[in-house]
Amino acid sequence: MSVEVDPSPAEGPLLTVRVAQRSDTGRVRAENQDFLDVSHPRDGVTLLIVADGMGGHRGGATASRLAASEVAQRFASSTAEDPRLALVSAFLEANQAILVQSQESQDLRGMGTTCSALLVDGNRAYTAHVGDSRVYRIRGGIAEQLTQDHSLVATMVREGLLTDEEAEVHPRRNVLQRSVGVASDLEVDVSEPFDLIDGDTFLLCSDGLHGLVRAEEMVAVVEREDPSESVQKLVDMALERGAPDNVTVVVAQVVSESGSEQPVGTASPEAPQEPRSRGSLWRWVLFALLVLGSVATLGLVLQWSGR
Ligand code: CA
Repeated sequence: MSVEVDPSPAEGPLLTVRVAQRSDTGRVRAENQDFLDVSHPRDGVTLLIVADGMGGHRGGATASRLAASEVAQRFASSTAEDPRLALVSAFLEANQAILVQSQESQDLRGMGTTCSALLVDGNRAYTAHVGDSRVYRIRGGIAEQLTQDHSLVATMVREGLLTDEEAEVHPRRNVLQRSVGVASDLEVDVSEPFDLIDGDTFLLCSDGLHGLVRAEEMVAVVEREDPSESVQKLVDMALERGAPDNVTVVVAQVVSESGSEQPVGTASPEAPQEPRSRGSLWRWVLFALLVLGSVATLGLVLQWSGR
């Protein structure tokens, strides 16, 4: 089988991500029903997940924990070659796992959760999403929401029935039209692959953050701070504003390989070869010099012994 070299995304430097995360119960709720997961299912692959559970008693926390951990595990063990297929299957299997548990226990009946995932695979990324947690991409000083909220108010805004400002204070703004674990059918939004650029920053969060901190404020924080400072600051901002809900945020900053500790750009077996980094070029130059040196020495020895 021949592998064609795809000229688009792999050109340019090998990219890596720096990830930081924080989740907080907030100032009003007794329990944190948000759950996040950061995993590296394969060399060069990073999967980030935020889930925001709902349902009384133990339900909400169980649903979000199950969604995040099941999606991560099922994705890691998937044999599908297309990451989009692997993501959707992982969501559907997590959906089933939650549904089964909710039907087995009175305590957990009716539980459900949002689930938003960002997959970084080499120099490409994907989102998969259900609910109203969000994935933003911050590039060039602008935050772009990559996911669409599956909430009643978001639909009303899209249909022109509400303004953004009205939606923010609407009494039914927490009502979801799609969530994981409540029915056997589930429609999962999965994105086309998109290329990463050095300097991109991704932010995943639950509505406990995006309901209180505006996108422009997120941009200002992540552009000034490194990811671990950013997640601290963003959660602190929500807490200062009363944090009536659980607050969860994951920040992933894309940098070229020389600036980071965690490689994510290793080529998968089917992927085109990545261009060599400057570091490995130097190793090749050194190796070539050593070979030349050895050949020259051998030549001298042969010349000498031939005398
Ligand atoms: Ca929430």
